[in-house]
Amino acid sequence: MAITVKNPIVEMDGDEMTRIIWKMIKDKLLFPHLTMDLKYFDLGVKHRDETDDAVTTEAAKAVIEHGVGVKCATITPNAARVKEYNLKQAWKSPNGTIRSILDGTVFRKPIIVQNIPPAVRSWKKPISIGRHAYGDIYKSVEYKVPGAGTAELVFTPSDGGAKKSLVVHEFKGPGVIMGMHNTEKSIRSFAKACINYSLGEKCDLWFGAKDTISKTYHAFFKEVFDQEAGARKADFEKQGVQYRYMLIDDAVAQIMKAEGGMLWACMNYDGDVMSDMVASGFGSLGLMTSVLVSPEGKYVYEAAHGTVMRHYYEHLKGNPTSTNSVASIFAWTGAIARRGELDGTPEVVKFSRKLEEIVIATIEKGVMTKDLAAIAEPRPGKYALTEEFIDTVAKQL
Ligand code: NAP
Ligand code: MG
Repeated sequence: MAITVKNPIVEMDGDEMTRIIWKMIKDKLLFPHLTMDLKYFDLGVKHRDETDDAVTTEAAKAVIEHGVGVKCATITPNAARVKEYNLKQAWKSPNGTIRSILDGTVFRKPIIVQNIPPAVRSWKKPISIGRHAYGDIYKSVEYKVPGAGTAELVFTPSDGGAKKSLVVHEFKGPGVIMGMHNTEKSIRSFAKACINYSLGEKCDLWFGAKDTISKTYHAFFKEVFDQEAGARKADFEKQGVQYRYMLIDDAVAQIMKAEGGMLWACMNYDGDVMSDMVASGFGSLGLMTSVLVSPEGKYVYEAAHGTVMRHYYEHLKGNPTSTNSVASIFAWTGAIARRGELDGTPEVVKFSRKLEEIVIATIEKGVMTKDLAAIAEPRPGKYALTEEFIDTVAKQL
């Protein structure tokens, strides 16, 4: 008997090897067991090109309407891709487009498997990272100072009020300067999305900045986080989770000694750097999931990796591949479980958790793709091919 998923899930198809895996997951793991109302959008690069990328915007709007989406990895075209796929232009990153329409924050979370030990011994539970994806050095203006002179910061109010100027530095010789900014709106949305994620996942929320040194800029981030977390105090208590602010260097030191199980909210640059550190510390990109959460609580689940192009080219040549499908499977189970929670259908949530358990147990029994076989302890005698892994999971469902 198939389980019925009550409300729609927005499905965004993608490119290359992940598109191949995507279809296998649906055909072998999901469709035999679930009746789903999927709102399908083909975000494959050719279809984005044919629709002048309108399909990406439509998909994002459908997520706003239905609340839950699941996305396959997609090509972000560069000059080489424009040529390869004969595209009209180098379309923008679909993830960037969807993120800006939803005003969302991306959270990355590793999947923990017993026989893939993390590089940091104390890490037992996943560490999720939330990166603020707006402003700071990523939207800054920079200037290479040629010689002696005065650098100033000037703000001119739009309402005709008095100008405010501050001296940055009196240069005696050449140097560099940078002007960067952030907005209260963006910081507040980020704080809200982090709080939603932490309450939804029932995990503590850590936020680190350097407010002792940056008494205005970083302190403003802290202030906004404190306010937003304060406003949800009752929800934190109800879920039994905590909000903790610490200095960023203290946060880094504590992360290396912690068990995990928290959401670490990071300013833009910290998130860029720390998410790569945490991801490699946990082993493989093939075990990293990602979810976009909007301040209104809309969700898009996906794998953190790309379209695994090199494997796709092998696949096209007819060669066997061993591509890890775990993060893509967890994108689906994440979306389906969220749908089930929102719909109040525990059997749907249960199916997702069961599928996740089977995937983990399969790896723990020694059946895994090549990327994992290289880092597993003990090393398995052989590695599974792409389809073989999915078939092994399917048999146990
Ligand atoms: P990638 O697809 O993440 O793959 C980089 C390498 O990492 C692969 O060649 C493979 O290494 C390994 N790898 C990643 N995922 C794996 C998996 N599931 N199983 C096994 N190995 C895996 O990054 P890329 O090759 O740099 O980018 C390819 C395309 O993906 C680009 O067009 C880019 O725009 C797009 N992209 C999309 C997203 C997204 O949609 N969210 C994110 C990132 C990149 P080996 O070759 O050594 O086996
Ligand atoms: Mg980075």
